[in-house]
This record gives sequence, C-alpha cells and structure tokens, in this order.
Amino acid sequence: MAEPHHVVIVGTGLAGASAAGGLRERGYQGVITLIGQDAHRPYELPALSKAVLLGDASEPDWVHDEGYYEAQHIDLRTGTTATAVHLGDRAVLDDTGARHPYDRLLLATGSSPRALPVPGGDLAGLRTLRTLDDALALRDTFADGVRVVIVGGGWIGCEAAAAARKHGASVTVVEPLPLPLHRTLGPTIAEVFRDLHAANGVTWRLGVGVAGFEGTEDVVSGVALADGTTLEADVVLVGVGAAPRVDLARAAGLELADTSGVAVDATLRTSAPDVYAAGDIAAHFHPRYGKRIRVEHWANAKDQGALVAGNLLGESTPYTASPYFFSDQYDLGMEVRGHWDPFEDDLVIRGDLTAREFTAFWTRAGRVQAAMNVNQWDDGEALQALVDNQTAVSAEDLRSRDLASLR
Ligand SMILES: Cc1cc2nc3c(=O)[nH]c(=O)nc-3n(C[C@H](O)[C@H](O)[C@H](O)COP(=O)(O)OP(=O)(O)OC[C@H]3O[C@@H](n4cnc5c(N)ncnc54)[C@H](O)[C@@H]3O)c2cc1C
Repeated sequence: MAEPHHVVIVGTGLAGASAAGGLRERGYQGVITLIGQDAHRPYELPALSKAVLLGDASEPDWVHDEGYYEAQHIDLRTGTTATAVHLGDRAVLDDTGARHPYDRLLLATGSSPRALPVPGGDLAGLRTLRTLDDALALRDTFADGVRVVIVGGGWIGCEAAAAARKHGASVTVVEPLPLPLHRTLGPTIAEVFRDLHAANGVTWRLGVGVAGFEGTEDVVSGVALADGTTLEADVVLVGVGAAPRVDLARAAGLELADTSGVAVDATLRTSAPDVYAAGDIAAHFHPRYGKRIRVEHWANAKDQGALVAGNLLGESTPYTASPYFFSDQYDLGMEVRGHWDPFEDDLVIRGDLTAREFTAFWTRAGRVQAAMNVNQWDDGEALQALVDNQTAVSAEDLRSRDLASLR
C-alpha cells in the first residue's frame, strides 16, 4: 500500500487527535486534516466528570499543548461538522461547504449522550455531560443546597453525584435497575458503590424508572417517576449512557456491527478500503475474545488512535489490548481490566469489600477474564498479565497468593 498523500480524520476527540499525533510521530509528512465539531482543540473526557466538576481544574487534560497542531502542520478545523463521506470519489464534505479529498480516512466520531424517550425528554433545560462546555456549565449549577437529580446510576451519574455532593448540593440519583452500575459490575460489587454514595449523603431512588420531566423548555423543575412520585429539582442531569455516532458511516454505506458501532476488523479497517474507525465508534474484532467488541473507554480511544496511525500508513497491526477503565468517586479509586460478564462469570474477592479495599476477579472455567482493583495500587502489572493471559488459577490462589507469582 503506497503512503497516502492526504489523511482526513473526522473527530477531534482522543482517538482522532491521538491518530493525528501518531502519524507525525511515525514521520508521516503528508497532509493531515483533522475535523471536529467541538469548538475547543482536542481534550480528554475523564477529567470533565472529576477534576472539572469538582472545581479542582478549570481546564480538561488537553491531548496536545497549545500550538502543537500548527507546529506539526496538522490542519485542525474545530467547530466544523463533517456532513458526508463519499466513498466513490474518496472525499469528506463539511458544513462550511469545503470538500476534503482523502487517500485514507479515519472516522473517530465518538458517542453522544442518549436521551430518554419520555414526555419532556427533549426539554432544552435537561443537562447531559459529554463536552467541556457541558461540564463547565454543570459545575456552575452545583452549590450548597441546590437540588440535583441525576437520572442514571452509571459511571457518569456516579461521578457527577460525587462532585455535586462535594459542592454541598442535595443529590438524588434515579436508577431503574436495583443497583447503580448493576449491569457492569453485578450485584455484589454494585452494592459497594451504592453504599459509598449513601455514606456520602446521596439519596438513591433505585428500581424505579422515569415517567417524564416537568418544567418549561429551559427550566426543568421536576422528575416524575414511574411509581407516581415526583422529585422536585433545580438541576436535572440525564446520564443514561451514550450511543456511538455512526450517522456518517451509515449514510456512506459502511458496514455497521449487529450490536452497535462501525464494524471494523482487528486492524480497525472498515468495510471500505482506505477507511478506518477508532475509539468509541469502532466495533473491532478482538482476536482474544473471538468476536467484535466496542469499548467506550479512555485507554481504548488513546491506544486505538495511536495504533491506527500505523495502519493508515500501510501497516496491518491488530489491536489486541485488553479493555481498561478507571474511575474516581470520593475517596474510592478503581481500575478494571478485561472483558467480562458479571452475570455469567464467577466472582472472586480478594481483600475487604466493606473497607472498600479489594480486588475483584471475574473468572470463566477457572480462567481470569477481568480484574478490578479498588483502592489498591500495587498489583497493576500482575493483574494486567493475569487478564491478558486469561491465566488458569484457582479462586483460593487468587484470594491468598502473591499475585505476581500467579501470572
Ligand atoms: C464525562 C466523561 C467522563 C469519562 N471518564 C472516563 C474515565 O474515567 N475512564 C475511562 O476509561 N473513560 C472515561 N470516559 C470515556 C472516554 O473518555 C471515551 O471513551 C473516549 O473519550 C472516547 O474517545 P473518542 O475519541 O472515541 O470519542 P469522543 O471523545 O466522543 O470524540 C469524538 C469527537 O468527534 C466529534 N464528532 C462527531 N461527529 C462529528 C462530525 N460529523 N463532524 C465533526 N466532528 C464530529 C465530536 O464532537 C467529538 O469531539 C468518560 C467519558 C465522559 C463523557
């Protein structure tokens, strides 16, 4: 495959920006056009629901320093939306009317927050948390005594709840499942998060859905629940998950995955030659798991962006990293590595759940699928190896032996 003259990247999130940087790091000297809807230069999202919402930082973690894109001759077009991809004549159109011909194209359009299909679910006053501007505006509403209702007890809901509590807000989280993070972590570990938030003053409304939102277009004043009660609110954050932004890919005729996302092979190549996808939108074939998976995590966006840079230049390197995720809430910090099903896999706990200092393992047929360390930071390398190797190990050994000796 000849080296491309022109690489176009759609999406200025972590995946797109890491790919642009990766191209230059590999010595690529051709044209790079990086198109993004966001008004800001590329930034990472994790700090938005942590340091930025907590008020500890007024800026996110930028992917690159100011001036980087200019210095690297990367044609960064912020505040610009790609409107169409023409596979036949290999060009991207944008909303300024510009046409960007490409030899290789990377789609890294990320995800957008889901809305709830209930009456009032489209009120402009409802808040979501995806961009820097969302985070700054939300933080400005968090204050002593303000009534914050958060719909959704997932990662975003939990982290936002912790931040709102730090500002003294009165926080209620509504979650239709019996526990927060239930689908991801299963009941035993999810209880740890329920109790953590309760201990920090969050009111849970678990096992009840939202029937609708009340208020005027710009001011949401209440959340009606399916049990007939209403929660009065000054601020309502909807954090019910995100959907991959596949509209461009779909309209272009690229193959989508049955589950969700753009279907790509292990090298992140789509069904069209010369078109790749990375980050949240990529449903990539993972050789270890023998199926396509789509991972909405920071490390996945960063590492896929860096790897796909090589593939855009003609390499054919498969992406084989285990999924990795981290979260911080109050004084709890955690990391989780691997790919697991909390309702199918066996759970093994090492350490003390009530003290919130433990490592949880999920095993299948005696092999480690995933490991989550909570407020324990010494075993990262060993956990990575156990997960990457899907090591066969007994529950007793996971509980009691030196982890480094098991991998
Ligand atoms: C608040 C928050 C906190 C998070 N915290 C963590 C965490 O603690 N740990 C963790 O592992 N993960 C976390 N994540 C998830 C992680 O940050 C994401 O998985 C990752 O950032 C995805 O990167 P991406 O580049 O694929 O997509 P995005 O960051 O969504 O970037 C996609 C970009 O493409 C742009 N775009 C889309 N369509 C178009 C178009 N047609 N034209 C132009 N531009 C377009 C979008 O505007 C966006 O800027 C968090 C996510 C959020 C929202």
